[in-house]
Amino acid sequence: MLCRWSQWVLWMPNLPQSKPWLATLPPYVGGESTIRPAAARPVRLTSNEGALGSSPLAVQAFAEAAISLPLYPQANCLRLRQAIAEAHNLDPQRIICGNGSDEFISLLTRAYAGVGDEVLYSTHGFLMYKLAALAEGAVPISVAEQGYRGDVEALLKAVTPRTKIMFLANPNNPTGTYLTRVEILRLLEGLPRHVLIVLDGAYAEFADAPDFDDFLKEEHDNLVVLRTFSKAYALAGVRLGWGVFPPQVADIINRLRLPFNVNGAAQAAGIAAVQDKRHLQATVIHNRQWRGMLSQKLEALGYPVLPSQANFILFETGQVTKAVYEHLAAGNVFVRPVDSYGLPGHLRVTVGSAQDCQTFLDTLAEFGRV
Ligand code: PMP
Repeated sequence: MLCRWSQWVLWMPNLPQSKPWLATLPPYVGGESTIRPAAARPVRLTSNEGALGSSPLAVQAFAEAAISLPLYPQANCLRLRQAIAEAHNLDPQRIICGNGSDEFISLLTRAYAGVGDEVLYSTHGFLMYKLAALAEGAVPISVAEQGYRGDVEALLKAVTPRTKIMFLANPNNPTGTYLTRVEILRLLEGLPRHVLIVLDGAYAEFADAPDFDDFLKEEHDNLVVLRTFSKAYALAGVRLGWGVFPPQVADIINRLRLPFNVNGAAQAAGIAAVQDKRHLQATVIHNRQWRGMLSQKLEALGYPVLPSQANFILFETGQVTKAVYEHLAAGNVFVRPVDSYGLPGHLRVTVGSAQDCQTFLDTLAEFGRV
């Protein structure tokens, strides 16, 4: 259904006309960020932000970047790319930095999928894949999952000559489930080479299953791996992501991206963050400990959880989803409803600080067992 305003615009041939499909493009709705101005600090477990906060070294680098405010930043993020390359033992030539990994989801779709082309993802995949496809007039194709996990054979079967991109978050948001190295290799082997596979590792730092692989070191002509500073590095506010691209894809994205797509303060903070390995390690250890604790306590309260490899947990609330959400919100604790991901009857909670996790558990316990 078109809203009244867009209908009116479509009726006025003399006005500037956007591409027709943009008038009905749904907006991305993120986790609650305008939480009520209560006296108490809200417990915000909605958006999978870093539980321990940013590295103090990144905060300092960000503050020191103030002196460079009048200057344009490095257009190619060379120093940041070198720091990332050093931390992960990669070739900096293969890396591009962006305004969050969202920027790459959008740019890759713009570059590789046009009107009528198909963009594949699994049913409970990250929402931006669908929105990016719709923004280009491409056709989003959602492929059914098996047991809340991407189904490799079904994904391969869904490929047609019109398929241009397959997006796959590993671990996936909002389920927290993952595909093994062997499953991803099967995908790579089975996909026709004209299909770009974008492996989105936004939560890869948190994955510790022995058969998980982030694929950063794999080089395939049709494989892009995306990463972000928003989660494990707790730098969501500066908007910083990066990816490893095959040379011919890197060339296209470097032509298409805006020249100064990553601001100077973000670059400075990113360099310090990626060099602060101790802070990252502390974050990952905290996450492992509290992910386990939250899962165990949720189950004990009668809410089944999906085993998570990320920094959040999807738990089943069935008929009482709205009541649980409202009870938590009344207690100043905010979690993420996931109806828009086709998961009514579930809520997603971020692994926050120890104090926030405890407040969440205590408030939920007041609601009672289900
Ligand atoms: N991919 C996935 C799977 C995500 O969950 C998110 C953030 N919610 C992103 C990409 C985008 O992250 P950012 O733009 O902050 O790097």
